[in-house]
Amino acid sequence: MHESIHLDDGSRVAIVGGGPAGSFTAYFLREICDRVGIEVDVDIFEAKDFSKPGPAGCNHCGGIVSESLVQMLASEGIILPDAVVQRGIQAYVLHSGPATVKITPPVNEKRIAAIYRGAGPLAPGGPVRQGLDPHLLRLAERKGAQLINRKVHVIDRDSSGKILLQCGQDRFGPYDFLVGAGGLSEATKAQFEKCLGHPVRHKTTRALIYELYLGEQAVDHFLDHSMHVFLQTFKGLEFAAIIPKGEYATVCLVGDDPGKEMADTFLASQEVTRLLPPDLDIYKRVCACKPLLNLKTLDKPYADRVALVGDSGVTRLYKDGIGAAYRLAKSLAVTAVFQGVSAHDFDNFYWKKCRQIQKDNGYGEIIFNLGEGVIKRVSPLRYGILRTVKNEQQKPGRKRFMSMAMWDTFTGSAPYKDIIKRMLRPGVASRVVFQSLVSLFAPPPRGENNDSVRRAWQALQGRREDSHPR
Ligand SMILES: Cc1cc2nc3c(=O)[nH]c(=O)nc-3n(C[C@H](O)[C@H](O)[C@H](O)COP(=O)(O)OP(=O)(O)OC[C@H]3O[C@@H](n4cnc5c(N)ncnc54)[C@H](O)[C@@H]3O)c2cc1C
Repeated sequence: MHESIHLDDGSRVAIVGGGPAGSFTAYFLREICDRVGIEVDVDIFEAKDFSKPGPAGCNHCGGIVSESLVQMLASEGIILPDAVVQRGIQAYVLHSGPATVKITPPVNEKRIAAIYRGAGPLAPGGPVRQGLDPHLLRLAERKGAQLINRKVHVIDRDSSGKILLQCGQDRFGPYDFLVGAGGLSEATKAQFEKCLGHPVRHKTTRALIYELYLGEQAVDHFLDHSMHVFLQTFKGLEFAAIIPKGEYATVCLVGDDPGKEMADTFLASQEVTRLLPPDLDIYKRVCACKPLLNLKTLDKPYADRVALVGDSGVTRLYKDGIGAAYRLAKSLAVTAVFQGVSAHDFDNFYWKKCRQIQKDNGYGEIIFNLGEGVIKRVSPLRYGILRTVKNEQQKPGRKRFMSMAMWDTFTGSAPYKDIIKRMLRPGVASRVVFQSLVSLFAPPPRGENNDSVRRAWQALQGRREDSHPR
């Protein structure tokens, strides 16, 4: 017989970590408690000052908010303000060797936002931006959660099993329920594990993020409202993307311990030099960080009165980590208020939602292993897929199955299982086979002529210099 532990009037909840997972959990806990008429205090502990530019005030990531998340937030009445959205992304451009293919969605309601997580790049004199994380924290505060801008150093339990926190010399608690939303911080994870009474192992990989300063006009001209994805084949690099944001380009590399050497090789490659302004100094990187990416969570992330969420718990493989944080934060809040906060309650409700994401990650692994092991290595197949996408893009209508499979793979907007189903539709698979055979003889598909984009830019620069005689 399992005893449930319930949140009642006067219960106290501590959330350690004020990234998306922590803010969304606080938001939904307060929202649901208000609706059912329970008075529960929610304290969010966050170590960072999100008004500081650069890595110190940022939860490092590519900064793409998927369209499925934009839509889910809109249905909750949460609209991302213009000041938070650094650029709306309307297309994805795939680059591979000489080939370039642009994918636009067949229906216009698909909207993706490129955001900064904190105050933006560490650029002396640069503007301080409104990041997503402080925006979500403010939404949680407006719902009645209390933000405590402190780092939690120690987490313990009292004799009745309730939670005690320590920030420096100051003690907080006891709390009836602890939400662990500290991302992949090792020190914080050790405290969560002590409180859980068992380890929560994660499989992770390193990423490298750079901000390049282009200026707003050059971003408009060269990158437009597109995210650029590179199907590179050089050793160690698994994924590379360039994302336009304001007057910067965010360069995001995932691979085998990516460092300066990998970034230099990537930025000097033909695909990238063709894309970026010819006069850009690629070595002038204004901001850089090397965050960890959660690939897999190997243990159940909960015990009585404690549950981990977001990157500390379970997340989506490679894509839409913020969207996964939203979905699981909501599920955790619903479980805590309507079922209880015992391990048994989490097992029966919250864990089912975590498992859905984990199962789908299994399909994601198939897609990414196929991409890494076969598609990237076999150029006729790679060009065959790009050619299929290009042909579909020239036709009107919704039957762009391969395009949508690629779009959803890179935007993270649909479950991986659905993407596989779309790729395996008989008509689609046979078209890819046919176009791969064509690719054995025909040159790779080329997109927009980059030379003309560069010539137009040089003409624009020339005109500007003429109108500003020194
Ligand atoms: C290279 C890269 C690119 C990515 N790109 C995208 C993308 O484009 N779109 C997307 O949706 N996802 C992306 N992700 C994934 C996304 O960043 C994460 O899934 C998401 O940030 C998880 O949110 P979180 O709240 O769980 O953790 P985090 O965002 O890491 O937040 C954890 C918070 O806890 C705080 N904290 C930790 N320990 C303590 C403590 N002891 N006391 C107080 N506070 C503490 C930290 O300061 C931090 O604010 C990317 C990840 C990486 C690495």
